[in-house]
Amino acid sequence: MERQIKFLSSVHGAVCDVAWRARLDAEIAMPSTQDRTEVWWQYGGRVFEGWLASYGSLPVWAGADDAFQRWGVRHVLHLRDDMVSLADCGAFSWREHEEPQASPMEVAEWAHEWRFDWAISLDHVVPDYDATFDRHGLRSAPAEWQRRVDLSIRLGGEYLDACVTLGAQFTPFGACQGWSPQSFAKSAKAMRHMGYTHLAVGGVTGLPESDMLTVISAIRDAADCEALHVLGGTRLRVLPEMQRRGATSFDSTNPGRQAFMSPDGAYFGVAPESRWTCVSLPRAERNKAVRDNNRMGLTTNSDVNALSSAALHAVLDWGERKPGVKLDDVMAKIAACHDTHSASKGYLAAVYGTLMARPWEACVCRACKTHGAYVAVFRSAKSAQLRMYHNNHQFQLWMDDQFATWSDEPERRLF
Ligand SMILES: [Zn+2]
Repeated sequence: MERQIKFLSSVHGAVCDVAWRARLDAEIAMPSTQDRTEVWWQYGGRVFEGWLASYGSLPVWAGADDAFQRWGVRHVLHLRDDMVSLADCGAFSWREHEEPQASPMEVAEWAHEWRFDWAISLDHVVPDYDATFDRHGLRSAPAEWQRRVDLSIRLGGEYLDACVTLGAQFTPFGACQGWSPQSFAKSAKAMRHMGYTHLAVGGVTGLPESDMLTVISAIRDAADCEALHVLGGTRLRVLPEMQRRGATSFDSTNPGRQAFMSPDGAYFGVAPESRWTCVSLPRAERNKAVRDNNRMGLTTNSDVNALSSAALHAVLDWGERKPGVKLDDVMAKIAACHDTHSASKGYLAAVYGTLMARPWEACVCRACKTHGAYVAVFRSAKSAQLRMYHNNHQFQLWMDDQFATWSDEPERRLF
């Protein structure tokens, strides 16, 4: 089966935070302006089909709002013509509140001013999923769940009005909420009736694969629509089935976010869903264990930075297969760094595994081809940005793998 479902990266503000902060990172000399743009261009251009931003977690770097308003999201992020930008209100961030913490006009205005291509209506998340209520009719479900679905439908209507008032150029997507296949279907019908030709389904992030697939089918059966975006619908194993049932795009934070959250599993491997532990060598100023030691007068920043720098060069030499470099010596230098991670159980063994396997040599992405082992070093905004590129590239290959091995014959399908 050929993949048509679009993958949108939804690392939220962090994507541009990391990318933009990397430009200020003086430790490793940045490439020329032209190359710098190219790294970001390639990162954005080849490894995902679009970018999703949530109103609830916007970029925090100084001047972000001004830049996006002035230039538009497509220009700031160097999105290619064949990529899309999608604005979402980020309802999950106010799930504990009785009402959404924004108004339909507020989120529509934001999507309009930043010049997104697509934008999802304001909604409120239903806190749970229970398909058994469908046996007894929609009114048997908890009143609060019904209230949230009805509220999302009403807000969807107000959002469309706001789009008209603003003269918004983006394509509005009606957010469908629910707690069961029938309630999602009801939501989808209502959105379609209001005039939405594009739909999005929310609140399915934590669902088992089979439930998510059932919800997609229920929406598609109930409402004929041009597109269906699945918010947070990262299910690598059943992506072809999601597409077959009518999902046209989904978003994921994983490939980008895992690159910089923790060294554990931060580097995606060639085998689907495999991950390697990165070598954690943060500079002294960014290392909590070092800061604590400094307070006790045990070490100085320059001592730590010298050790860290020595370890970094040893790792890079190992990565380049320089003659005479022994892995045990490299490991001794890594262990001497007193990083928070080097003290944790299993970390050094995991790093040994990564360095032995040299996964960057098996990768064909531009980050690994150019920077080798540095992509597997957890250290700076620059290395994080390269690893985000690598992970997204690898995620594309994992998806290709799923589609290549998928069979259209019903008896061989998982569901
Ligand atoms: Zn790579």
